[in-house]
Amino acid sequence: MIIWGSKAKESQIATGTFFCPNCMADSGYTHMRVSRYLTLYFIPLFATSTLGEYVICHGCNGQLSDRVLEFTREQILEAVQPWTCSKCHNRNPSPQDSCLACGASKYSQPPPLPSAPPPALPLA
Ligand SMILES: [Zn+2]
Ligand SMILES: [Zn+2]
Repeated sequence: MIIWGSKAKESQIATGTFFCPNCMADSGYTHMRVSRYLTLYFIPLFATSTLGEYVICHGCNGQLSDRVLEFTREQILEAVQPWTCSKCHNRNPSPQDSCLACGASKYSQPPPLPSAPPPALPLA
């Protein structure tokens, strides 16, 4: 009886250095690819599909998306930087898209100043 199967297998496709957003420093990395292999008697024969790729940081041992390699140090630093709300000046962590204090969007522009004071309420 011939036993065919498939299993996921990880292979190293590259190594190098990158700017790690976890370490906030230059660090070595290993670029890994997870592929599905066709197996015969549990021996991987050849890759049938790529399941995904990821990057391991040698500094923090964190697993990051391989997309991190596409960004420059400046882009990463800007992306992880806390931001200040234009409405209430609350400092918010970078992954937050809206202000924790007032709920304003990270991407919204400061509201225009009202051009005229609100009409005074008539006194009874
Ligand atoms: Zn790291
Ligand atoms: Zn706010």
